[in-house]
Amino acid sequence: MLDPARIMERCDALARHSELPGGLTRVFLSPQARAATDTVLGFMREAGMHAKLDAIGNAAGRYEGSRAGLPCLMLGSHLDTVRDAGKYDGMLGVITAIECVHALNASGKRLPFAIEVIGFGDEEGVRFGTTLLGSRAVAGIFDRQALAATDAAGTTMQQALLDFGLDPAAIPRVARKKGEVLAYAELHIEQGPVLEAEGLAVGVVTAINGFSRLRVTLRGAAGHAGTVPMRLRRDALAAAAECVLAVERVAQGQAEVVGTVGRIEAKPGAINVIPGEVAFTVDVRAPQDELRHDAVAAVRSEIDSVCRKRGVDAAVETLQEFGSTVCSPWLMQQMDEAVKRQGLRVRRLPSGAGHDGMALKAITEICMLFVRCKAGISHSPLESITEADAAAGAKVLLDFIEHFRLPA
Ligand SMILES: [Zn+2]
Repeated sequence: MLDPARIMERCDALARHSELPGGLTRVFLSPQARAATDTVLGFMREAGMHAKLDAIGNAAGRYEGSRAGLPCLMLGSHLDTVRDAGKYDGMLGVITAIECVHALNASGKRLPFAIEVIGFGDEEGVRFGTTLLGSRAVAGIFDRQALAATDAAGTTMQQALLDFGLDPAAIPRVARKKGEVLAYAELHIEQGPVLEAEGLAVGVVTAINGFSRLRVTLRGAAGHAGTVPMRLRRDALAAAAECVLAVERVAQGQAEVVGTVGRIEAKPGAINVIPGEVAFTVDVRAPQDELRHDAVAAVRSEIDSVCRKRGVDAAVETLQEFGSTVCSPWLMQQMDEAVKRQGLRVRRLPSGAGHDGMALKAITEICMLFVRCKAGISHSPLESITEADAAAGAKVLLDFIEHFRLPA
């Protein structure tokens, strides 16, 4: 029997392992991460799993199938948090997966495949500025150069692993081979307001959005705010204002594309000087790479035309790009069926935030189930879910696990 109250209690219990008094901050390889990981390993063993800490600091549990050594259905999420975080982002997926195994074990049920649950040690990338470390190691795409990365105190990841009692040289052995993992399924809070707006407890994820990040620098002419007539100005900030609205317009023009200017800086930055130079960032995300590329091209062309009209020079630089991770249609289908069997309406939606599945995709096919969160808030102490929604998510996940099969 699934016990939703236990899911909530365990999320509360993990949240107490925090370096932030009165709040929740738990970063990769910290003493608090160690305590939380040990707690999770205990939950796994209690659920009938063989559990161990792996060489990158993941909590890894295995529940054998009808015979030992079968390939697995992998479930999981992450145990690290952002600073001043909520207690469900990541942890809910790990705790719920363990709860599902607990239910199988309690009824003595073995499936024609093993189940592995992993609580990834790092997904958020807070400590070393590089994300998905736990899932990259499992997927065999851990970049050893990351070991030289340092945290704010100057400690290298290599040293932090050693301090945690781990052997960095053993990280390659964490990697799973293709074929050992039949699929990866992750339950996670939505981190957006769509399910709440539609009155739904759960949603089936179609893709983890890819993103493009640009830095745009506009150069006009600085001048005296009192003496230069309006028609002779080349105001870089006024041009930037038009560009910001253009980013919004482009994103609004295509369902599922989102575009954001999150940072802007004007120089010289004085009340009585016309801004001569402005730099701003653009973040564009979409569930399909083609949609995103089209949106970025449209943004670039709008910036060009604004700047041509205003006699301002524009330099647009791509800072970072990551392709979208598409959830496998056959897995989404099976998740849809589980949702329906639980008497719920099927709602598919893309994920605007990144998740461990992005890394796991290198060795297996992935799917995700979203659980509604209050007001779509995450990465905040205000992050909140109801026990009823935790129950709905757990029921759907367990149903999915029990009916899981490879496509014919
Ligand atoms: Zn997360």
